[in-house]
Parts: sequence; structure tokens; C-alpha cells
Amino acid sequence: MNIILLGPPGAGKGTQAQRLVEHHGMRQLSTGDMLRAAVKAGTPVGLEAKAVMERGELVSDEIVSKLIDAELTAMGDSVGAIFDGYPRTEAQAHSLDEILAGHGRSLDYVIELEVDEDALVERITGRFTCAACGEGYHDVFKQPRVPGVCDKCGSTEFKRRPDDNEDTVRTRMAEYRAKTAPILPVYEARGIVRRVDGMADIAEVTGAIEAILAG
Ligand code: AMP
Repeated sequence: MNIILLGPPGAGKGTQAQRLVEHHGMRQLSTGDMLRAAVKAGTPVGLEAKAVMERGELVSDEIVSKLIDAELTAMGDSVGAIFDGYPRTEAQAHSLDEILAGHGRSLDYVIELEVDEDALVERITGRFTCAACGEGYHDVFKQPRVPGVCDKCGSTEFKRRPDDNEDTVRTRMAEYRAKTAPILPVYEARGIVRRVDGMADIAEVTGAIEAILAG
């Protein structure tokens, strides 16, 4: 199974991808995570991407498509793939078709998380993660059970993404509207788009996605 989770920043793509990984042993391919790792490691890709990401603009199509191809090669062809935050432009959608074909894969579903954009700014600017295990939290919606201690691994270190501030979030949303939303019709023409209410509870959204995957 190969699926794309599509939706604006803060729609819950990463959260849902993690749940599918836990339930189905699929692999999450998040170009955002790959780029953040490259920035942290100071690789040439990271050096090129850092400032672009801080502005909330899109990194070049060539860079992200290469990252995806390398990851698919590394993971082998028998594991299901969840594309999270990729493709984000028509050129990337085209590259993904070619890359998948090269790995003997094809897309099963494009799942669009439908969300109210005004609510997204609050969702994004309040989010933080455990610095050790990556578990996600939120200032308003999901504080750790014991303040300052990760529920999952007990770490007391947390971090926030530098691009989760209001100005950058507005740019990221504008990029989504201008460049990413227009790729939906390509997939609609293939009859593989399914829509899910991304404003529902996390567990309800997961349930709706599971129902789609179960056919
Ligand atoms: P994300 O974690 O998906 O919100 O991505 C964070 C940032 O990484 C984005 O605002 C872009 O700057 C960059 N990025 C992630 N994925 C892509 C992509 N597929 N194409 C271009 N830029 C990307």
C-alpha cells in the first residue's frame, strides 16, 4: 500500500502517519523530517534548505524528490509507504509517479485532511515535541500528564520547530494554497482521492483513514 497524506500545515498529517506506522508497520516518509535531519547534521542539503525552511517557503523539487527516492531504495519494496508532506508541487507529483514506477509501486490513495485554516494557526503555534522520542504535545490540546515529563519516554527535554511561528505559518499556508492544493485534481482524475474531516478528534481521524485503507 502506498498512500499520500495531503493537507495544509497543521492538518495532522504527521500525527496520523505515526499512527499508521504503529498499527500497520508502514513507513512514514516525511520530507520535512528528512530536511530537518539534514539541517541538524549540517549536510550540503541541510545548508541549502535551512533559510528556505525558516521563511516557510518550499525547498527545490529536485532536492526533495532525491530524498524520497533514496529513502524508498533504503527501505526495500515490500513495506507500505505513507508520504507525508510530499509531493507539494505538480513537478513533485510527476516525479513521484516516476520514482514509484522505478520501485514497482503505485499509489493506492491520496487522503486529504480537510481543515479549517483559521484553527490551524492555533494548532501549529502551540505544538511541541519530546526532544528524545519525538512524541507530539500541544500547549492547549495535549499537555504531558505530568508537567514537564514526556508520557512516553520520561524525558524532560522538549523542543519547538523554528518555523512554527505565526508569520512563517502564514507563508507555509500560502505556499500550500498556491502550489500544493492544485495537485489534487491530478489525483482526482485517477479516482484515488478520499477526504477525511481533519478537525475531528485524532482517534476519529485515524478511524476514518483505517476505514479507507480497509477498502
Ligand atoms: P513540514 O514538516 O512538512 O511542514 O515541512 C517543513 C518545511 O520543509 C516546509 O515549510 C518546506 O520549507 C520544507 N519542505 C518539506 N517538504 C517539502 C517538499 N515536499 N517540497 C518542498 N519543501 C518541503
